[in-house]
Amino acid sequence: PKSYPRPGESGCPVTFKSQYENFIGGKWVPPVKGQYFDNVSPVNGKVFCKSARSTAEDIELALDAAHAAKDKFGATTFEQRAKLLNQMADAIEQNLEKLALAEVWDNGKPIREALAADIPLAADHLRYFASAVRTQEGFIAEHKENTVAYHFHEPLGVVGAIIPWNFPILMAIWKLSPALAGGNCIIIKPAEQTPASIMVLMEVWANIVPPGVINVVTGYGPETGKPLACSPRIAKIAFTGETTTGQLIMQYASQNIIPVTLELGGKSPNIFFADIANENDEFFEKAVEGCVMFVLNQGEVCTCPSRALVHESIYDKFIEKVVQRLGKIKQGDPLNMETMVGAQVSTEQMDKILHYVELGKKEGAQCIVGGSGKKAIGGELEGGYYIEPTIFKGDNKMRIFQEEIFGPVLSVTTFRTEEEAIQIANDTSYGLGAGLWTRDIMKAYRVSRAIKAGRVWVNCYHEYPSHAAFGGYKKSGFGRECHKLTLEHYQQLKNIIISYSPQPT
Ligand code: NAD
Repeated sequence: PKSYPRPGESGCPVTFKSQYENFIGGKWVPPVKGQYFDNVSPVNGKVFCKSARSTAEDIELALDAAHAAKDKFGATTFEQRAKLLNQMADAIEQNLEKLALAEVWDNGKPIREALAADIPLAADHLRYFASAVRTQEGFIAEHKENTVAYHFHEPLGVVGAIIPWNFPILMAIWKLSPALAGGNCIIIKPAEQTPASIMVLMEVWANIVPPGVINVVTGYGPETGKPLACSPRIAKIAFTGETTTGQLIMQYASQNIIPVTLELGGKSPNIFFADIANENDEFFEKAVEGCVMFVLNQGEVCTCPSRALVHESIYDKFIEKVVQRLGKIKQGDPLNMETMVGAQVSTEQMDKILHYVELGKKEGAQCIVGGSGKKAIGGELEGGYYIEPTIFKGDNKMRIFQEEIFGPVLSVTTFRTEEEAIQIANDTSYGLGAGLWTRDIMKAYRVSRAIKAGRVWVNCYHEYPSHAAFGGYKKSGFGRECHKLTLEHYQQLKNIIISYSPQPT
């Protein structure tokens, strides 16, 4: 269709409940204290459902269910786990439109993106870990004569996951896929801005996933996330969110000496070398497209290429094209298939971005395009959270270059030499993603090795294959997701040394 019907209209693939309880032990369980909070759709700013406002008591119930399930699930064979993950992927694919629409209504992202990326990537991730776990082998080393050292991968038991709001379903899947493949039961705490889409997913999976293996408890960070991360009954906590929250998660986990993986913020540089403009060919257009990717998911991406570093000799020509390309990007109704930029997730997030747009002007950055802040879309989207994409030119020392805005705001600066480009790229406390564009393979290699970031895209951007390790350097966190080595974050390594010798040695 050109445009999808909204929830509540006939033909809409998703029907939200008016109120979501927690999903614990395979059942819908009301919050112990009986409290709920409103969930607002960023598309129109209206409340569309309520979600459980859970507390430590609800986390305990989820822990009871997970612990009751963990021995049986931990003893499943790799084949059985692989089969389960593949069934979960099948169910996602069979409910593609329903899940995509749930994500759009909860988060504000455009439907074309949810249909083409969020949901298919989620299914692929499950399939990847279904296969990856079967390639995992223990290893054996000979020690002395007749004595050998064996190594086994064992489940951790019950693990916790705290999820952000920008890719709610995908971020949950990035954690639960290796967790389940590794034989663990999991408790998921979705972000309070987007609690509903994960519950729609649980409805889809209710008859597939054994009770207690996946438990979802909604609520606010300090009320629900903190008791989960502080619990002595979890064996690991996986977190995606802000750097400052990540610092708290480490403190909580330190009480119980459990491992932590953190996927945190970013301020990713995207470097455009002079040779991209040699000819006015397709590659130049591709680089322009790579620059405009700062508006993908309304800029609410941890790897958003929010700093563009452009060689001074091509600056005028390049930015002119970027502005032209940006002008063709359709912003508006997220349910329209042509829309490429939708709504920001919440009023708080919108206000934060508006604050940075004003700050950029105060800092003396030159506003090249946009800058008006809130974009009135009108009609029934009147109350939604839409912001005009904005490009500033300034200096890397400015706060709009150093702090994560998490919105459709690009900060551009120029450089003269390769060394200067590397220096500017690394002049940030973050190190999650980076991009660089050049026709010179030697330069591409040198610069990508010199950039302190966990993922460097060369002549492309925003590619997320399930089999490429993803994670941060510096204050962007530690640990990796998306590659089979992630399994090790969800497993113990058991070593057994056995002597087969009947004689004393
Ligand atoms: P946030 O840190 O505010 O919230 C993330 C989650 O943590 C939410 O579920 C929230 O309820 C919970 N939380 C908040 N305070 C808590 C506490 N004291 N104890 C336990 N849990 C708590 O982040 P956000 O605003 O929801 O998400 C945006 C951030 O996520 C950005 O900084 C972005 O860069 C980052 N992000 C990183 C990645 C990555 O892979 N590195 C991916 C997506 C988003």
